[in-house]
Amino acid sequence: MTALSDAVALRRTFAIISHPDAGKTTLTEKLLLFGGAIQMAGAVRARGEQRRARSDWMSIERERGISVTASVMSFEHGGLSFNLLDTPGHEDFSEDTYRTLTAVDSAVMVLDAAKGIETQTRKLFEVCRLRDVPIVTFINKVDREGRETFDLLDEIEKTLALDVCPLTWPIGMGRDLKGVYDLTADQVVLFEQTRGDHLPEGIDMPLEDPRLDGLVGADAAARLREEVELVRGACPSFDLEAFRAGHLSPVFFGSALRNFGVRELLNGIGRLAPPPRQQSADPRVIDPLEETVSGFVFKVQANMDPNHRDRIAFFRLCSGRFKRGMKLKHVRSGKLMAIGNPVFFLARDRELAEEAFPGDIMGIPNHGALRIGDTLTEGEDVRFNGIPSFAPEVLRRVRLDDPMKAKQLRKALEDLAEEGVSQLFKPLNGASWIVGVVGQLQFEVIANRIESEYSLKAGFEEAPFETARWVHSEDKLLIKRFVEANTSSMAEDRDGALVFLARNSWALGRAQQDFPDIVFSATREQH
Ligand code: GDP
Repeated sequence: MTALSDAVALRRTFAIISHPDAGKTTLTEKLLLFGGAIQMAGAVRARGEQRRARSDWMSIERERGISVTASVMSFEHGGLSFNLLDTPGHEDFSEDTYRTLTAVDSAVMVLDAAKGIETQTRKLFEVCRLRDVPIVTFINKVDREGRETFDLLDEIEKTLALDVCPLTWPIGMGRDLKGVYDLTADQVVLFEQTRGDHLPEGIDMPLEDPRLDGLVGADAAARLREEVELVRGACPSFDLEAFRAGHLSPVFFGSALRNFGVRELLNGIGRLAPPPRQQSADPRVIDPLEETVSGFVFKVQANMDPNHRDRIAFFRLCSGRFKRGMKLKHVRSGKLMAIGNPVFFLARDRELAEEAFPGDIMGIPNHGALRIGDTLTEGEDVRFNGIPSFAPEVLRRVRLDDPMKAKQLRKALEDLAEEGVSQLFKPLNGASWIVGVVGQLQFEVIANRIESEYSLKAGFEEAPFETARWVHSEDKLLIKRFVEANTSSMAEDRDGALVFLARNSWALGRAQQDFPDIVFSATREQH
C-alpha cells in the first residue's frame, strides 16, 4: 500500500493562467500529450467541440472564444501525478477563476513572447499572489518574432514585482530560432519544424563545447554564450525557497504549438513545484499528511450531463487517504454523506475514484447538498477558508414573462446561484428577485442556460441598484433599525444573510456613515 507521505510527495496540482490567445489551450494539449494522457494533439479541442455541440449556451464560448467552464485533467509523467485545473480565461469570470486558484498548489503563467504581460495575466497573477501561489513562467510562441528576451524578463520583474530566473534560454527567435538551451541540465534542444506529436530530445552539451557551433551555427552559439553570461550575472540564482514562497519565478521558453520547450517545462514543474501544501482552515491549519480525510468544494457544476439533473461538486482533497464509499461529515449541515461514486477527470474520460490522496480533485455527484466552499471531514468541525462570494457589480431585476412558470424559474435561478454563476437576492419588501453577477457577460450565460437547460425564458431589467454589501452586527436592535430605515433596499441572499442593495456609491457611503457600527462587507465567506 502506498504510504500517504509518498503519495503526497508525488502530486502536483496546478493551473495555467494567461491572457486569452497566449496559448493556454495549446499548452494544455501538449502537456497532456507529453504526459501520455492523450495520443494525439487536438484531443482537448476536439473534446471541447463535442461538449459545445451539446447545449446552446456553449455557443457563447465558441463565439467569444472563451472557455466558460473550468475542468480538471489528471495525467502522469516521470512517476508523478499531475492534476491540471483549467481556469476560465475571460475577465468576466474572475470569481470562478479565483475559486479554482484556491485549489491549486502552483500555477504556470503563460506569456506570448510578442506581448509580454497583458491585462488578464496581471489580474490572475494578483490572485495567485494573495495566496502566495508559486508561479512558473512559460514564454510561448518563440517560433515567431517576439520581443527582446531581456526586455520580457524586465517587464515581469517590474510590473509584477516578481524576481525571475530563466532555466532555459532561447537560441534565436522567430525565423532564426535554433533551439533552447537548458541551463539546468546543460543540454541543447534543437528546434525542428514539426507540429505533430514528435518530441525533440535534449543533447548533452556544455556551453563551451565547440560542437555547439556546428549544431546551431557559430553566430548563434556566440550570442547564446554571451547572453547566458549576462543572465547569470543579472538574475538571481534559482532559490527553491523563494520560488515556493511566491517571490521568484523560474522562466522557460518555448513554443507550445511546435512541441518545443514543453518537455523542459513539464520536467521543471515536476522538479520544482510544491506537492500539496498545508491549507488554512478554521480553527486550525490542516496538514496533508494528517491521517483523517478532509477537503473542500471549490466549484459546482450543474447539468454536465443533459440527461440528469445531477450536479458535480469539484472537491479538493486536503488531507488523509480517501477510499470510495467513505462516509464523510458535511460540516455545514453536520450530516454524514456516503461518497459512493466519486470520479476522477482524465484527459478524455472520467473514471471512478477508488482511492484519492491530498492534492487530488474528485467530482462528487450530488443533488444540491454540496455547495461551493463546503468542507467534508471524517468528523472534525473544521472549515477551509478563503473561498469568498464577491459583491456583485451588476444587478438586474428578474422579469417574469409567464407567471405560470414562476416556480420553475425560481428553481433554475437557485440552481445557477448554487453553482456560483450568479447570486440571487430576495428583496424584503416582496419585490421581484434581483440577480447579481460580477461580470456583465454572465447575464447572457444565465439567459442562455435557462433557455437551453430549463426550457424557460427569463428576462432581466434594469434594477435601481449598483452594488450590494452584506451587512452584519452583533447588535440585533441596530440591524433592525437599519432595516427599517432602508426597507426598499434590503434583501436576503440564498442563505438568508442580510444584504444592503445600494443605489450608488454615494448611498452606500451615506449608509456607512449613518451606521458606523454595522459592518458592510464586499465579500462573504461561503459557509
Ligand atoms: P488560449 O486562448 O490561451 O487558450 O490560446 P490558444 O492555445 O487557443 O492559442 C491561440 C492562438 O495562438 C492559436 O491560433 C494557436 O495556434 C496559436 N499558438 C499557440 N501557441 C503557439 C506557439 O507556440 N507558436 C505560434 N506561432 N502560435 C501559437
